[in-house]
Amino acid sequence: MTIQTVGAEPAPRTDQAPPALVLDRVSKHYGDSVGASDLDLAVAPGELVTLIGPSGCGKSTTLRLVAGLERPDEGTIRIAGDVVADGRRFQEPERRRVGLVFQDHALFPHLTVAKNVAFGLDRFSRAERRARVGEVLELVRLHHLAGRYPHELSGGEQQRVALARALAPRPAVVLLDEPFSSLDESLRAQVRRDTTAALRETGTTAVLVTHDQTEALSVGHRVVVMHDGVIEQADTPERVFEQPSTRFVASFMGDADFLPARVHRALLTCEIGIVSTVPGWADSDVDVDVVLRPHEVALHPDPDSPARVSAVEYHGAFVLHHVRLASGRTLRSWQPHNVRHPVGTPVAVSVTAGTTPTLLVDDRAVTAPPPARPGAPTGRSPMSDELGKSFLR
Ligand code: ADP
Ligand code: MG
Repeated sequence: MTIQTVGAEPAPRTDQAPPALVLDRVSKHYGDSVGASDLDLAVAPGELVTLIGPSGCGKSTTLRLVAGLERPDEGTIRIAGDVVADGRRFQEPERRRVGLVFQDHALFPHLTVAKNVAFGLDRFSRAERRARVGEVLELVRLHHLAGRYPHELSGGEQQRVALARALAPRPAVVLLDEPFSSLDESLRAQVRRDTTAALRETGTTAVLVTHDQTEALSVGHRVVVMHDGVIEQADTPERVFEQPSTRFVASFMGDADFLPARVHRALLTCEIGIVSTVPGWADSDVDVDVVLRPHEVALHPDPDSPARVSAVEYHGAFVLHHVRLASGRTLRSWQPHNVRHPVGTPVAVSVTAGTTPTLLVDDRAVTAPPPARPGAPTGRSPMSDELGKSFLR
């Protein structure tokens, strides 16, 4: 998986201007089911945040709360410094400075492209409206199609019209709910590039919901991972992938295998041997799980090894090897496209030099050793309370 594009650019600074969007302990329940639970998030002006999580985890609920299509049960929402929802106040959606883009475009079929885009501009004068429509159609490179009707456009063009319509009134925040998922694979990458370019060019603050990991990592300045209504991690793409804060984030964002391991005197060992050193853990003796991603796992044929290749998946550029260890656990390893170890091959497995794997105690990542307890080697269960204090969050 490549991590690149926007994520590699400097993200907008959070400390220079008030946030464009703030969620402060926001919750929303539907009867017994959790829509959103205690959400805390601040989005900087010009920042593009991607919101990802499994189906039903609360992504759309979060956007609907911001848009004013739902009322929070608890918490405060601010847009460009103004409170739009809290225990007392509730600003109607049309008065919030929010632009919306949905998966199904939701264009008016009986209006031309230009009229669709002009729809939210009724507070502008006629001349201003015309100028603004021209400007945003130029931005999404659809100026030449202004007179067409939605059914005369491709899916990708329709999505660009929807984006132009959302941007036209100069909203403080644009919310995009799985905007590319109805487009086929080949179109998707291009429309995604056009959309993020338009958002960046206009310095628009945006929250983009996706269920595609690569999209979340490659498009967002920051990635917010949700699970069961809760934000598990809100971080740069690199940190979400390389330093996941929970077991869920590790397994949801990219492939991950987990092996029981032990840190003893700053050495991390598991079934495949020494994995790495863990600086700062010199006095520790702690059971952990180590997270290993397929690109971090090296292998080579070794007739003396008890590990065996159990499956081989050709993915084109890379070949994924599944390896069954002596314990019966499985690790996966990416190999270059020209490497193929047949099923049954005994292989020695190791961790690529330079890997700093994530360590989990129960379901949380730990970055610091627990306070030393003289006397006893410390197993996972009795230690979990104290380890809780050093959890990365
Ligand atoms: P996502 O967009 O991440 O797939 P949603 O935000 O749509 O998830 O839904 C989050 C949870 O809230 C789910 O359990 C869903 O069933 C529930 N939910 C969402 N909207 C409603 C609603 N209008 N009435 C009842 N339950 C809802
Ligand atoms: Mg949804």
